[in-house]
Amino acid sequence: MFSPTSVNHISVDSRVAGICCRIIFLGVSRNCLTDKPTISGRYFIFLASYNKNKIPKRRTNMQLYQEIATQPDVDQLLASINSFHDSMAKEIHVINRGCVLPDHVMAPRNQYDIQLLIQSQWPPYAIELVFINVYQFQLNRPQEYWEASGKVERISSPVEKTTIQIAFDHDALVISCERLFYRFRGEWLGYKMYLSSEIPSPVAIPAQNIDGTWRMCSECLNTWEDPANSSFSTCPRCGRITELH
Ligand SMILES: [Zn+2]
Repeated sequence: MFSPTSVNHISVDSRVAGICCRIIFLGVSRNCLTDKPTISGRYFIFLASYNKNKIPKRRTNMQLYQEIATQPDVDQLLASINSFHDSMAKEIHVINRGCVLPDHVMAPRNQYDIQLLIQSQWPPYAIELVFINVYQFQLNRPQEYWEASGKVERISSPVEKTTIQIAFDHDALVISCERLFYRFRGEWLGYKMYLSSEIPSPVAIPAQNIDGTWRMCSECLNTWEDPANSSFSTCPRCGRITELH
């Protein structure tokens, strides 16, 4: 199968000696997309047996985050940073996991995820919070916070549901969600922006690193380019959130 994915990037699926493989040509000239293309990239990458189950598993970036699942968990988080006393919300990144596709088809996912950077005058000075499946997001005053509160609620009827809420200065910033993760980011201080890549996700599937900036989705085998320092990236074809392996 010949698959021109861009004017300078072509992938070919084939079988070599009975093994499923994908050959990816990079730096291909434009005339390769004519009726009888002659593929001649500046260099190519050969991926044999690309079955997604063959992609090796390794420690994921989400394992670098702590998950808040119980009230003691959220109490411990608040205690670890002085209940966010003398802190501020520095950056907030909100993403709708759905979209309107380039061919104008609606692809709803009914899910917001939020990544929040809180900077503090107290150790550990900065925390990244990742709110998965946000139920409520209230943003009022860009002030420094006196304190924050948190609660975890579980209901089993009519359907099982967990709600985790963090509220800064009562109602200055309130976010509630289904799952909450955090990671200490003590060096993320100052005016610089840090939340520049895809929001991390606990349901990300592997994407195979091809040459540093190119990656391949383990679900649909699509390949695309994203900065190498972006661990997470959404596959442009199937919309799955992927994590670079
Ligand atoms: Zn995909």
